[in-house]
Order: sequence, then structure tokens, then C-alpha cells
Amino acid sequence: MEIIFATHNLNKLKEVQILMPSHIKLLSLGDIGMHEDIPETSATISGNAAQKVRFIRDRYDLPVFADDTGLEVLALNNEPGVYSARYAGEQKSSEDNMDLLLKNLEGKRDRSARFVTVIALDMEHCQTMFEGVCEGEIIEERVGTEGFGYDPIFKPNGFDKTFAQMNLVEKGAISHRGIALKKLIAYLS
Ligand code: IMP
Repeated sequence: MEIIFATHNLNKLKEVQILMPSHIKLLSLGDIGMHEDIPETSATISGNAAQKVRFIRDRYDLPVFADDTGLEVLALNNEPGVYSARYAGEQKSSEDNMDLLLKNLEGKRDRSARFVTVIALDMEHCQTMFEGVCEGEIIEERVGTEGFGYDPIFKPNGFDKTFAQMNLVEKGAISHRGIALKKLIAYLS
């Protein structure tokens, strides 16, 4: 089967591509000639995933899925959460976001955090949601060069390295996105 992954984020695309079984052909937005920004104005992670998927579904008659992710930090009342992309401002800079998060966590003993991903799937105008959660902690400074977003400062529980020190397969096996994606693949299979 063919399915569109509604993201302009090439890092997300790579993470998902590597985990997709060969009987599911992933189409990127580039493959279908979609270069417009996709709005994400909901106040919830699941609302944003649903909004992204509806935007593409209204324009293309193919199965489509989209993901939305938030980083929830316990000591910051689960911020940045749904506002993770623009935590430090509309420039949506990962470097600025990490700097602000590290600053806001200065002096806090509890640095526990979790990534939450919701994948929304639309097939024949029927929507289904799949969630993945990865628990961990925010370390005090950046370590590693792989991945994207907050990866250099997030260390998943049970590992002594950050997401930014893992390759795509290692991260995908335990990550929020990998877990949600496994549920999607099981559903499609
Ligand atoms: P969105 O799902 O693209 O809206 O992501 C929200 C924010 O979380 C952005 O700043 C992303 O860079 C960041 N983000 C999303 N997924 C990950 C991830 O797997 N690791 C680190 N940061 C992520």
C-alpha cells in the first residue's frame, strides 16, 4: 500500500522511513509535490496531529498520517509540551529552545521529562490515533550530534547516552515516535 507521511521535517522522515516494512510505500510531501506549510494551531498534541492529517486529506485522495510531538518536563508543569517547537519564540530554533529549557531548569533537582508523540492516521475519511511515550531526563548540557530538536539534552531512562548519541535504529527502537509508529504499522498490517 502507499501512504503519505505529512511532514516537512526531513529528520522525522528518515526516522520513519527506516522503520517502515517494505510492503508499505511511504510517500513524502516532496513526492506528492506539496510544499505549503501545514498549520498546527491546536492547543493539544493530538489536535495538531489531527489538524495536519486533515489538511493533507482535504487535498489528496490517499491514506495519510501525521505526527505531533511534545516534550513534557515535570518540574516545569509539563512545559514546553504542545509549544515545544516555539518554546523560545517564533523562529522555532532548536538551539534557542534548548538554551531556554536548560536555563529554566537551573537549580531544579527533578529533571525528569518525557516525549509524547501522537500519530493521526486518515484512511478513507476515518481517523485513528496512536500514542508513543518515552520517559527520561534532561541533562545539564548538550551531548551528541545525531538526531534533531531536543535530542542532545534528552537521555532516555535505562540508557547512559542521549538520543543525539544514538543512530536512527537505536533511537527508533525506544523513542516516542518509534513506539507510536509500531502501533500504526501493526494496525496497517
Ligand atoms: P513537532 O512534532 O514537529 O511539532 O515537534 C515539536 C518540537 O519538538 C520541535 O521543536 C521538534 O524539534 C521537537 N521534537 C520533535 N520530535 C523530536 C524528537 O524525536 N527528538 C527531539 N526533539 C523532537
